[in-house]
Amino acid sequence: MIIENPTTPLTEIFDPLFSEKQIKVFIKREDLTDDFISGNKFYKLKYNLIEAEKLGYKTLLTFGGAFSNHIHATAAAGKKYGIKTIGVIRGEEHLPLNPTLNSAQENGMTLEYLDRKSYRNKYDETLIKKLKEKFGNFYLVPEGGSNELAIKGVAEIIPAINTQFNFICSACGTGGTLAGLILGLDSKSFALGFSALKGGNFLYQNIKKLLSEYQKENLTNWQINLDYHFGGYAKVNNELIEFCNEFYIKHKIEIEPIYTGKMFYGIYELIKNDFFPKHSSIIAVHTGGLQGLNGLKFRKLINK
Ligand SMILES: *Cc1c(COP(=O)(O)O)cnc(C)c1O
Repeated sequence: MIIENPTTPLTEIFDPLFSEKQIKVFIKREDLTDDFISGNKFYKLKYNLIEAEKLGYKTLLTFGGAFSNHIHATAAAGKKYGIKTIGVIRGEEHLPLNPTLNSAQENGMTLEYLDRKSYRNKYDETLIKKLKEKFGNFYLVPEGGSNELAIKGVAEIIPAINTQFNFICSACGTGGTLAGLILGLDSKSFALGFSALKGGNFLYQNIKKLLSEYQKENLTNWQINLDYHFGGYAKVNNELIEFCNEFYIKHKIEIEPIYTGKMFYGIYELIKNDFFPKHSSIIAVHTGGLQGLNGLKFRKLINK
């Protein structure tokens, strides 16, 4: 199986604040990878799909929440690249299906629900054994898709950036994407993550563990900002939603409040607070995830 990386633009965005602080900001438009296999999830799945095929698996099983971008993307990738997919979803089934799960099912994913308590121990041998009895053998991709092969794919974002830069920024959920960016940078500039979750300290361990698969755990050119989680994962407030709306009006690029909105909010705040030295050039990776907006509308957390 050959999976070619899409060509996505690098777009400079402008703001009086950036001029005042003499900072350049570019967006790497990974939201444009594919209509369904969006953003970082494309890169994280790439080598896992190739590996699954190489090992002769016909089915890929993974885990996620009911609004997960990873579940959405995995289903679409399975359809496109010809592998059956099973999504183990946290919590009970709710009908009608929300837009994320509806799309996953339309793309042929089999949905299997797991109560929250069992979900916490989802990698338990007995549970995996039960799943194998039910579905046959499968290639397992962890929740969020973050493993050794995922970060190899994400690292390929770096050489496709055809400009010099000092900082590269990404939103963090499991940290797999930031780990991949760090791997791709190989100390040439600094990677800055923005935790989308409260208590994101665990991200340091996750990232070091992933980097250690490539003997890169001692790199120090990276950091995670823990200040812009807005109360926790998938928590949003009016200020953040307003920020995302204004961002679209100013730059004509859509962002969402679960990941990319929090990152861009953080970038603006750090620029205001002179975190970045004068003349810095910053790349913000747009990790996609815009399908999540449908989920927020479905839950009536946003109305546009
Ligand atoms: C999944 C996701 C992330 C988080 O990626 P991790 O590799 O889990 O840190 C960031 N942004 C978007 C839009 C995502 O869908």
